[in-house]
Amino acid sequence: NREIHLASRPVGWPSEDTFRLVETDVPTPGPGQIVVRNQYLSVDPYMRGRMNDVKSYVAPFALDAPLDGGAIGEVVASEAPDIAVGDTVLHGLGWREYALLDATAARKVDPTLAPVSAYLSVLGMPGLTAYAGLLDVAAMKPGETVFVSAAAGSVGSLVGQIAKLKGAGRVVGSAGSAAKVERLRALGFDAAFDYHDGSVRASLREAAPDGVDVYFDNVGGDHLEAAISAMKLHGRVAICGMIAQYNDTEPPAAPRNLAQIIAKRLTLRGFLVGDHGHVRAEFVRDVAGWLADGTLSYDETIVDGIENAPAAFLGLLRGDNLGKMLVRV
Ligand code: NDP
Repeated sequence: NREIHLASRPVGWPSEDTFRLVETDVPTPGPGQIVVRNQYLSVDPYMRGRMNDVKSYVAPFALDAPLDGGAIGEVVASEAPDIAVGDTVLHGLGWREYALLDATAARKVDPTLAPVSAYLSVLGMPGLTAYAGLLDVAAMKPGETVFVSAAAGSVGSLVGQIAKLKGAGRVVGSAGSAAKVERLRALGFDAAFDYHDGSVRASLREAAPDGVDVYFDNVGGDHLEAAISAMKLHGRVAICGMIAQYNDTEPPAAPRNLAQIIAKRLTLRGFLVGDHGHVRAEFVRDVAGWLADGTLSYDETIVDGIENAPAAFLGLLRGDNLGKMLVRV
């Protein structure tokens, strides 16, 4: 069994030295436990925060111990009554080839309904984040103009498409390359721009000349500042993530226009996907239907081999991914 440990706490950008590949024995289950051979591991932006030794909504990773995170795989040994060898389960012990866990911490999924990787992307946490953030937190209404940043990523690409499927009038996305912008147009975004091509403010004004009703923020900084300036009266901003700042060692200079929140009577609402389980049933029904009839697309960028999990995570922070970044074990 190979697993990835946290070798050091990064200051600023993490690097290969942040991680260590460690070989251990394949575990055997005790009473009530299962062993899972992981097939896909999720690497996610929030994991950067857990590399810092600070108190947050999730505990920091421990030094010289395996990292954890979303994973899916096949049960290869079971001492639990409800889970059998051969079952496919979703669980929280990623970053390793074999996971030993209490059966109560695993959720059985049906591998015939969708490719198993989808349970870590479109049908999983990123999908629910997009759905709940757009519809539950920002309460998008038909006809509205929606702007989403990191729009070619896992959450962002679903936000834009779900907005269209739920009747948005205009959907605008920003992303970090010309190829990603092209992908957004193919996914049905009405307008898209590469945020490297000039200021976000100018690009957004051109893409949404009549203003924005809902901004789904994955980036923070100058994206949030530009969105505030573009917001219409009574606009809503779902504050999902601020990836532009995760590796910063100094506080950000932007946004400098927070005072506009008052005059425009904006709602900026931070949220965590974990609080929105009440829309899960609706989410699964809608998304499964859209996948079945082909109206929703999802991209996955798959890196092979546990030894390449650190490179996959670093690539995610740099923007190497289109859609969900996953590691295939
Ligand atoms: P993505 O698949 O979107 O991957 C991250 C992307 O961020 C990269 O592909 C990159 O694309 C973009 N990016 C990186 N640095 C910058 C930068 N400086 N400026 C603009 N874009 C940048 O990841 P996820 O879909 O998993 O997550 C998206 C956001 O949602 C993150 O902020 C994450 O923390 C947050 N999140 C929050 C949750 C919650 O419960 N609140 C739950 C899940 C995710 P590009 O090439 O376009 O730069």
